[in-house]
Parts: sequence; C-alpha cells; structure tokens
Amino acid sequence: MPNKEISVENKFDVIIIGGGPGGYVGGEHAGKNGLKTLVIEKENLGGVCLNKGCIPTKTLLKSAKIFHYIKEANKYGIDIEGDFEFKLNWKQIQTRKDNVVQQLIEGIKFLLKSAKATYIEGEAKLISDHVVAVNGELYHGEKIILATGSTPRYLNLPGFDVAQQKGFVVDSTQALELKEIPKKFTVIGGGVIGVEFALLYNELGSDVTIIQGLDRILEVIDHDLSKTMTDILIKKGIKIITNANVKEIKNKTLHFEVNAKLEKIEIDKLLVSIGRIPDFGSFAEIDLVYNVKKQIVVNKHLQTSKRHIYAIGDVTQQIMLAHVAYKHAVMAVDHILGLNTPYHLIETPWCIYTFPEVAGIGLSEYEIDNKNFVISKMPMTHLGKALADAETDGFIKMIFEKTTGKILGCHMIASTASDLISEISLAMQAEATVFDLAATIHPHPSISEVFYEIAKKAIYDHFSK
Ligand code: FAD
Repeated sequence: MPNKEISVENKFDVIIIGGGPGGYVGGEHAGKNGLKTLVIEKENLGGVCLNKGCIPTKTLLKSAKIFHYIKEANKYGIDIEGDFEFKLNWKQIQTRKDNVVQQLIEGIKFLLKSAKATYIEGEAKLISDHVVAVNGELYHGEKIILATGSTPRYLNLPGFDVAQQKGFVVDSTQALELKEIPKKFTVIGGGVIGVEFALLYNELGSDVTIIQGLDRILEVIDHDLSKTMTDILIKKGIKIITNANVKEIKNKTLHFEVNAKLEKIEIDKLLVSIGRIPDFGSFAEIDLVYNVKKQIVVNKHLQTSKRHIYAIGDVTQQIMLAHVAYKHAVMAVDHILGLNTPYHLIETPWCIYTFPEVAGIGLSEYEIDNKNFVISKMPMTHLGKALADAETDGFIKMIFEKTTGKILGCHMIASTASDLISEISLAMQAEATVFDLAATIHPHPSISEVFYEIAKKAIYDHFSK
C-alpha cells in the first residue's frame, strides 16, 4: 500500500498492536518520551493479564483466602457459632472481580491519554512492512511493536470439542466465570495456572483433582518446592494424579491411562490448562524469521528479522509473565529512542499465588553444573512472625556462590512469598552478596527477617571458616 494514500495524522512513529501489559506499557513509555504513538487493541485494554489472567485470578483467590481464614478462625481463638453464620456469595465475588478489572482498565486508558498516545479499539492487521489496517483505515508506523500475546492451547482429543460446547470443558478464561462453584473440579495440567485454579476451587469447596502428564506437578520449579507444594495441596484434599495420559471424554467421563492402566473420572467442570500459544494472527502474512520451535526470532533489543518490527511479551514465548512483557516494552521503546536497556532473564522473579505462596528467582541447585555454590535453607517455623500469623508452612532456600557469596538464586514457599521475592530481585540486580543481606536491617518481627537469618546462617556455616 503506497504511503502517499495515508494521511499525515495516520502516520505514527510507533504503532503497537495489542493493548496488554506489553502494549500499554510500551504505549505509555513511547508517548511519554515524545514519540507519536498508536496502540490498537481488539478486545480489552490490559490484555490477558488484566482481563483473563493475573488480576481476576488473584481477586478470586483473595476471596477464597478470606473464606479460608474464616474456616480456620478457631486456630486464632475465634469460635464461630450461633447466628454468626457465613456463606459464600459467588455472585458478589464475581462482581467484585469485575469491578477491580474495570477500575484498572480505566486507569490504563488514563495512562495512555496522559502520555498522549492514541488508542484505537479494533482488530489490527499488519498488511505490509509499515502499514497497519484497522476498522477500514490504514496507518503507517515508522516502527511497529507486536504485542499480541497468547491464547490457551487446546486438547484435540475425542469428545473434548463436544464437551466444550456443552460447557463441561473450560479454558482458563471460562474457569474465571463459572455460573456456580462446581461440585467436582478437575484440572488437566499441573502447571502454575492449573495449580492456582485447583487451589481456588478447593478452598471454595469443590472436590478437586489435578491430572498431570509428567511425574510431578509444577515441574519447571525447584524440585524441593514442587515436592513440598504437592504435600501441601494433598493435605488440603486435592487429589493429584501424575504420569497420566489423557485419552478421551465420553458421556461426562474423562478416560486416561496411568502406567498402562486405564482409569476414568466423572467430570462436572474440567479445566484444560496445558500451556498457551502465541497469537501470530495479525502479522501472519509478514515474512518474519521463526525458529524450529515456531518462535519469532528476536535479538537482545526485541527486534525481529525486520529490524523496524519488534516483538514483545507472550508472543515471543520467552517467559509468559506480565512483568516480562513490561520489561520487554520498555526495552523495545528505549531501543527505538536510541538507548540500550539490558535484561537478565535469570533475574526475573516468578510467583504462584497459592496459600502459602511460592516464588523464586535465579538458579536452583539442579541447574548449576559446578560445585562452586552453597545452600542455606530455613523452615518458616523459625520465624516469630510466621508463628504469630499461624502461617508456618514452607521454607526458604538460598544459593550463594561459594567463593564470593554472590546470590545465585532464591526459592521459597511462604505466606507472602510474592512480596518477599522483590528484595532478592533488587539484591541480585544490585549484585549484592550474602554479606550485604546479613548487614541489612530488617524490621522485627517480619517475614522478611528470613533473609537476614538465612544470610547469617550461611555466613556461620560456610563463609566464616
Ligand atoms: P496479552 O496480555 O495476551 O495481550 C495481548 C493483547 O493483544 C490482547 O489484549 C489481545 O486482544 C491483543 N491483540 C491480539 N491480536 C490483536 C490484533 N490483531 N489487533 C488488536 N489487538 C490484538 N503473569 C504474571 O506475571 N503473573 C500472574 O499472576 C499471571 N497469572 C496468570 C493467570 C492466568 C489464568 C493466565 C492465563 C495468565 C497469567 N499470567 C500471569 C500471564 C500474563 O497474563 C501474560 O504473561 C501477560 O498478559 C502477557 O502480556 P502481553 O502484553 O504479552 O500479552
């Protein structure tokens, strides 16, 4: 499409396709830095994270946590009896979730507006190297940022299509909006999303089973964490079936094989949570380079094989996390501005919002192929605040370089792990050592004291000899 057909007002320094965490953060950053910016979103600003992922799941989990505390109130010396009845109001829980999402969407609209970035609702298509078509109009972008994210992977097995049409089989988006809390909630897939939903519906009263293809759930995280979380989930009443090979659904029954033995389970709601695939739809006709795993090839600045086209966030399949998309967005825009913002994948924290929470950063001992490291581990029972809170499940494990005390990794199960991990994120970014952690004053009592305690222990055990 020749450029002269595109009016001046439709010419932009940067066009961003997708308004999720990658797209809107990129839009704000580009606009605030004086680039004429257009962000295009086909569904809702905030993308998967805000509308179908991070925020709605955590809002529902918070309600489940309050319910959990009420059920355990006697642990804190509170007997609930007589008229002081309590029950779940699922409709109200859903409304609260929707209100939180709506409030945040409004916030993003405001951010883009104050950054003077133009926002258009519509499905965009990159029809040539610089030209984007949306709502029947053409727009020219000097630079293009692809931030189109990902969608759930489906299981193409007999009976699944029909069961999905009938509403027995759901994906993670549908699992957020069930009309009622199911009697039985079965999850295929023991990854982070599957486990968070399993815990949610378990706490809300469903009979929950996780069916996992591999020999353990949460297979990508440190082995000690996944083993301990398995024990905690089983203690909560969640059934976990590993090494399962799912076959088909027949008459509301899921058939699968475990160690060559046929098994079956009646389903009420079945969540298929077996990963996500990138959304290439808007730029399928553009000749970009992909690797053998069908991932878009990007360099360290997130540039694709066509250097004026960047790809960020889930669509790159690097690590599908909202804060990775945020970081990518800033890196890509900075590069457009002539800056070089580094990113160390290893310093990316991740969290699982179960009760207790799980979090980690850096290397685990299973990933280090030399002996130049020491491990310092401490159970949560050693902390006064954890005892005061009656939340003593879990432990923290830190890995330090033996010769220097440099922090190599941190892996933990703790009530507030998702907040705690940021201290280690900052410490790693600042190249702090075990000695810096031990020299840092932490408030007492607090769960964060664990870092002081564990560093002190590591120094006594390994560094003072
Ligand atoms: P997306 O959020 O997928 O946004 C892409 C956007 O592009 C979408 O809004 C889409 O509509 C739009 N789009 C696509 N094609 C077009 C087109 N042609 N035209 C216009 N717009 C288009 N991550 C965390 O870090 N923490 C969590 O706790 C967490 N929890 C999660 C829970 C669930 C259930 C799920 C599913 C995901 C969760 N994630 C979490 C992952 C997180 O949501 C993603 O990593 C993040 O949303 C990726 O951001 P993105 O901008 O790359 O893509």
